[in-house]
Amino acid sequence: MSTAESPRPRKPLVGTVRDKPLTSARIITLTAIVVPPLALLSITGLLWGVAVGPVDLIMFAIMYVLCGMGITVGFHRLFSHRAFKTTPFMTAVWAILGSMALQGPVTQWVTDHRKHHALSDKEGDPHSPHHGHGPGWKGVLKGLWHAQVGWLLTTKGLERGERYGKDLYGDPLIRRIDRLYMLWLALSLGIPFVVGWAWGGGSLWLGFQCFVWAGLLRVFVFDHLTWSVNSICHMYGRRDYATDDESRNFWPLAIPVFGEAWHNNHHAFPGSARHGLHWKQVDLSWALIYGMEKVGLAWDVKVPTQERQAIRKAKSAG
Ligand SMILES: [Zn+2]
Ligand SMILES: [Zn+2]
Repeated sequence: MSTAESPRPRKPLVGTVRDKPLTSARIITLTAIVVPPLALLSITGLLWGVAVGPVDLIMFAIMYVLCGMGITVGFHRLFSHRAFKTTPFMTAVWAILGSMALQGPVTQWVTDHRKHHALSDKEGDPHSPHHGHGPGWKGVLKGLWHAQVGWLLTTKGLERGERYGKDLYGDPLIRRIDRLYMLWLALSLGIPFVVGWAWGGGSLWLGFQCFVWAGLLRVFVFDHLTWSVNSICHMYGRRDYATDDESRNFWPLAIPVFGEAWHNNHHAFPGSARHGLHWKQVDLSWALIYGMEKVGLAWDVKVPTQERQAIRKAKSAG
């Protein structure tokens, strides 16, 4: 008999919780993640001395770190997971810095994120690359697109705190910061312009140049790298803990997203202020929280004990 009558079952392109993701899915994901930053680096090299200067890159770095930490330390670890406590002043600072990353107001960000944890890679997860995208290559591409940016236009902000963000929607300080979102947006893009303008002795062109680099491009780079946690860290990397989802630790992203790429650790211990649980797992957000704790600006800092980690790991191995 011909083999056509008994075809071998086709493997799905995206692995299940216990499978490793297949090579095709890895290649698609890595290409989509690696190409834009490389393109940006090339443009920087080409334009050096022509349309980019030291002040643009210094401001890029400063704004990247401040607004980026606003997301990772503020929106994520402080507001979404209450992994530590801090003063009302620092609470406001973190909410404002996070807003300046232009990923949306804090209430919306937190409700979407808590929903992601509650329904991870299942129906209702706002940005799963796995659920509901169909089989084959088309499904992989659709899932990747959805987890990276598509969800911003479709499933972001569907919940308004009825279930996942009650504490924040009921907090007058947070609501006030939310209402001023357009001011934070203006500062996020306006500060680079003013610095470039002043540095250039009142040159509008140099102000515009700094606005492009430290405003627009900085937002573009950081936001895509953090959204890569939604896509790549649910598709590619190590699973140290058997969580009920597809989360993974993907080390190459750890430094640019300030430790958020230890995403499997994070799904295993969502309440932990520390995501890089081993000294080799660089986690700059944790370094900052640790520093804040040492100077009295953070307390009730939650980190799983070595024993708890060992028990969880043993369960995962068994
Ligand atoms: Zn996740
Ligand atoms: Zn989280």
